[in-house]
Formats: sequence, structure tokens, C-alpha cells
Amino acid sequence: MPVTAVVGACWGDEGKGKLTDAVAADAQWVVRFQGGRNAGHTIESRWGRFALHLLPSGVFRATTANVLRPAVALDPPALFEELAGLERAGVPAPRLYVSDRAQVVLPHHAELDDLEEERLGADQLGTTRVGIAPFYAEKARRIGIQVCDLSDPKRLESRLDAGLAQRNALLCGLYGAPPLSIGALVDELTEWGRRLQPYVADTTTLLHEALARGERIIVEGQLGALRDPDHGIHPFTTSSSPLAGYAATGACIPPTAFDTIIAVVKAYSSSVGGGPFVTELSGATAEALRVAGREFGATTDRPRRVGHFDAVAAHYGCRVQGATEVCLTLLDVLSERESLQICTAYEIDGMLETVFPTMPRLERASPVYESWPGFSGDLGAVWSAEDLPEEARRYVDRIEELIACPIRWISVGPGRDALIRRR
Ligand code: GDP
Repeated sequence: MPVTAVVGACWGDEGKGKLTDAVAADAQWVVRFQGGRNAGHTIESRWGRFALHLLPSGVFRATTANVLRPAVALDPPALFEELAGLERAGVPAPRLYVSDRAQVVLPHHAELDDLEEERLGADQLGTTRVGIAPFYAEKARRIGIQVCDLSDPKRLESRLDAGLAQRNALLCGLYGAPPLSIGALVDELTEWGRRLQPYVADTTTLLHEALARGERIIVEGQLGALRDPDHGIHPFTTSSSPLAGYAATGACIPPTAFDTIIAVVKAYSSSVGGGPFVTELSGATAEALRVAGREFGATTDRPRRVGHFDAVAAHYGCRVQGATEVCLTLLDVLSERESLQICTAYEIDGMLETVFPTMPRLERASPVYESWPGFSGDLGAVWSAEDLPEEARRYVDRIEELIACPIRWISVGPGRDALIRRR
């Protein structure tokens, strides 16, 4: 069966974009099935270094079609800006299809996101403030606007009107902000519809016909398993499911069509935003790792929190993703360290725990480490797993054992070729 999922096993930023771009060489389609412009998939190509927010990671390959499916939070101005950015850099125009059923992020969504983070003050969740949670909340309340609404001003006006009372109750009632008026909004959204038109398609039919022809599809997740609204670290999660299982729904691909689920796992830990982070490092050690791994948010440029490898979290992430294999990324970043720590268990209330716990216990967890000898040398020049330094191989073997999933890929640099196929 011809579908591969590339998904994150932990907090996000695992290097999914790099892997998707690399494996897209063998695929005809790359599909985004959830999330929005809060994603930042960094890809280094011959045109430069790009952080893709909405565009699927197949845009640097002329032979790959790229699809945004209905469960994506489609932010048209952000999409236009991203396409213009590629054009400015000389990247050939990508083959892009946008679902006619996708819903659009409206200007007041970012405003609500911002107002809510300000209201929460010290308790804020650390969102990217681009409107993702308010967008999905409106979708759940069934007042969202679909792409297919944008080409008919009368319908658009009545759809916007249907949600106006709810939106203004929040804007004015909770936050004391000015009310929304829909006059100018209709014009703005109609213009979005006009500019989107060349890309809009019935993407369900496109993908199902592609499946019938036996073409390979890659679905790429945003963020990681620990940010899943149900299975993650609530409330420090995102608003749509980044799990491979959800790709069947979000991209409307039969669950039986998936044959490979690649969970991307970083060789250490990193996290953007709030929430418990058991193996977090601080001070100079954290700063050194942050700089070596260029751990600054692709969307917000915020310094990412960094820590030792957390096998409890990664094992859970691979499990809830239903991973069939793992890609271990950024191994090169750990070079030149005397020793490497792997968190093999949590200590919670005096007991050892190897199963990722629920939030109240996670917040009381402290890491139990195993120490492994470090390795040195430039791994970027290594082409096969056998040629990795012995200490690096032992580190990878131990992680594989702890996460209980075969590590079939090792990424040793940001470029698409710095990728080792293992066994
Ligand atoms: P994504 O959202 O999962 O695609 O990850 P991000 O793009 O937010 O963060 C991953 C970062 O690591 C990006 O800057 C990538 O260019 C970079 N990267 C990915 N794989 C590797 C690797 O194996 N080694 C190094 N040094 N950088 C990598």
C-alpha cells in the first residue's frame, strides 16, 4: 500500500521537514493533513534555507504535487507570502492543490489568540499567536468559512453573519475589544478567494485517483505526539491531532492504505512553549546545545528549551504514533561531548516509572539518567551506519532498545543528503 506518514514523536521540531523533503524523492504527493502556519518545517535546499509554515515539504521537488487538505488551518495571506518568498528565491513554482473544503483563518483569530495569551499573563500557554486555537474552536462551533464559500459574496456574507454574535460576544464581552464588522471582511475574503482560485481543487478525488494508480503519497504531520489534544500534555497541546492515525481523517485517505509510519525523533530533546519538560537543561550547558543545534523557533525565533534524550517520552510518542520505524535526527549535533545522558525512567513520588504519565504526575517527575560515552568527529561526512563512531552507534542502539521501534534512518545534517539508511 502506497502511503507513508512522517510524524513527530515528541514536542515538535524533530526535523520532519528535512526528512519529508528527502523521502519525497520517491513520492508523487506530499500532503499536509492538520495544523496551520504555526508549523515551521525547515528545509535546506539549493535555493537556500526555508522555514515552510503552510506549504507541504515537497515544494522543492518538481516531480511532487503538494496538497493542503481540509483539516489544515488555511491562512491565505500567509500562504501567498510563502509562495512569493519561494518565487523571490528563484524556486520554480510548486505544484500546489488546496482543498475546496479547507477552512480559512480569519484576521480576528490571531487577535483572539493574542488577547487570550495576554489575559492568561504568567499562565500563558506560549502559543505562536497566529490564531490556531480560535480557528479550530470556531470550526468545532460550526461557524468557520470554507474555501468554497469565498467565491460567492452573498453566501460569504451570510456565513460570516451566522458567526458574528458569537465572535463579538468573545471579543467585546471577554476582552473588551472593538466588535467585528463584516462589510470590509467580505471584500477581503473575496479577494483571497480570487487569489486562491488557481490552486483550489477537489483534493479527495485527486488523492483517491492517485491511490488507484498506485502512486506514493507522503502525509506530513506538524508538531509531535506530545502536543496531541487527547494524548499529549494537556493543556500545552495544539488544537488538531498531529498523530498518523488522524491523517486518515484529516487527509481522507483510507487507513488501510498506510504501510509506513516514520516517527521522527531528535537525538536529544527540545520544546517550544510551556509545559513540563523533565530532562530540561539550563545555563551554559543548555545554551551550548541550543547553539549547536540552532534551536531557535522557525516560526517565532524564540529560543527553544533543550534537554537530554527522554526515552520515556519518545517511547510513548512512537507508541501513540503507531510508528513502524524511526528517523533519529540531529545526531551530528551531539558530537564532541564527553558523555551523553539518556533518561530511561522518571522518578515520581519515590517510584520508578517508565510509562509516560498523565499531567499531574508528569509535573512531579524527575529524570533518571544512564550515562553513555560521547563521540567526536564530523558526522555530516558519514554515509553509512557502520562508519559512525562506535560510541555513536552504541548511543543509537540503546535508544532503539528503549523506544522499542527500529531506527531505520539517522539524520546527520540539515541537508537532504545527510541521511543514513540503517539496516
Ligand atoms: P520540523 O518542524 O520537525 O521540520 O523541524 P524544524 O524545522 O522546526 O527544526 C529542525 C531543525 O533541525 C531545522 O533547523 C533543520 O534544518 C535542522 N535539522 C534537521 N535534521 C538535522 C540533522 O540531522 N542535523 C542538523 N544539524 N540539523 C538538522
